[in-house]
Amino acid sequence: MEIAQGIHQIKCVFGGTRMVFCYLLIGQRASMLVDTGCAHNPEQDILPYMQSIGFDPADLTYIVITHSDLDHQGGNQPMKDAAPNALLMCHNLDRAWIESADAIINGRYAQFGADHGISLSEEGKAGIRADMRLAPVDMTLEGGETFRLSEDWQVSAVHTPGHTWGHTAIYDPRSRTLISGEATMWTHIPNDDWTPAMPPTYCYVDTYIATQDRLMSMSIDLLASAHWPLQRGADVGAFIREGRNYCLHVEGQLLELAAQQSFTLREAIRQLAPNLGGWTPPDHQDFSFAMLGNLNALTKRGQLKTTRNDDGFIVWSLA
Ligand SMILES: [Zn+2]
Repeated sequence: MEIAQGIHQIKCVFGGTRMVFCYLLIGQRASMLVDTGCAHNPEQDILPYMQSIGFDPADLTYIVITHSDLDHQGGNQPMKDAAPNALLMCHNLDRAWIESADAIINGRYAQFGADHGISLSEEGKAGIRADMRLAPVDMTLEGGETFRLSEDWQVSAVHTPGHTWGHTAIYDPRSRTLISGEATMWTHIPNDDWTPAMPPTYCYVDTYIATQDRLMSMSIDLLASAHWPLQRGADVGAFIREGRNYCLHVEGQLLELAAQQSFTLREAIRQLAPNLGGWTPPDHQDFSFAMLGNLNALTKRGQLKTTRNDDGFIVWSLA
């Protein structure tokens, strides 16, 4: 559906219960698709939507990937096949994981094995691999680039790190819409029916908090994100603040736990996740991303220190 002048939201369903919103911006001179969903989403959702509004994918000018994650980049090759004239773009810092399944599986999804004993099964890796058909990136962004879509309509790339290093949002000053991807992640990521699917997966806390502050300083009338309901007007600031507060609340809980005992990542999740949104096994392992992000930030700031236990896993305690 068209959510603002020239901006279309396309719902893409994946994984049985999940969904991701991709966005199509159509100007008189140029057009931009933001994110491609999983491998099956171009054929299942994006191309049928384009057809329904009479947009020829051969006319697509840009494909911008907000960040490296399977549900945002998985459809890159199918979209390039359907839109061979479009330039595929992402932030320079996310390029490696957007171009390579091995790189993102090892660097992101399977990163908790050696140091934390939270491993990803071979079946899990195969599932992730099947959800992505990747393509070489044509051009990288740094944030601040502008794209003229019509004579009198430009949108710009905004570097919004936190969920990934190179996360990039698209800002339309004409409608004051921010296509925010996962720049701000609220208190959980919802399923297709808005029930909670997993904790927010912010990873790099200092940059994530800085991004929330930056977003709150922008003029945003419509927050059009990847997984959450559209936020309008005063709800935009509340949504961002709630996400920021949640991240800081997790940090406070970790410090309280550290005042009582030392712990591994697995132990911290087991003890704290039930009281941070009711997360119980197996879903609570998804908390590894956020909680490790908080723990790394606390360690970098000198509030926690690390050692290794007999299994070789990292143990945190008060500094
Ligand atoms: Zn996502």
